[in-house]
Amino acid sequence: MTEATRSEPKRCAGMRKDGTPCTARVMGDKGDYCFAHDPQRAVARDAARRKGGANSATNARVEKLLPSHMRPVLGAVLAAIRDVRAGTITPAQGSAIASLAGAAVKVYQVGLLEERIADLEALQEGSTTT
Ligand SMILES: [Zn+2]
Repeated sequence: MTEATRSEPKRCAGMRKDGTPCTARVMGDKGDYCFAHDPQRAVARDAARRKGGANSATNARVEKLLPSHMRPVLGAVLAAIRDVRAGTITPAQGSAIASLAGAAVKVYQVGLLEERIADLEALQEGSTTT
């Protein structure tokens, strides 16, 4: 192969998961490893991977936006969607779960509004008495 004889950039000394040598270019001039295999970067890389793995799932992203009380509701709805598609529950059962989830969300929203109103009232009382 002409590629092997050509003067190429230094290749990574690491191994791929399948046991074949990594062919990525090394980082910088004196490195022996690519970004993925550099032992010095392992800690930061693992952290990034964990973060990326957790964030890559749409569910995880949505769950981050949800109040913790609502996460089980989302979980139930997503599970119902899966089950209806898989045929393990009937569409009617799925609809029942969806409407119950909707009811739970409404109750939660009312609670949230009550809390906000109470906070606003407390603020207003504070400002009028001073
Ligand atoms: Zn590599």
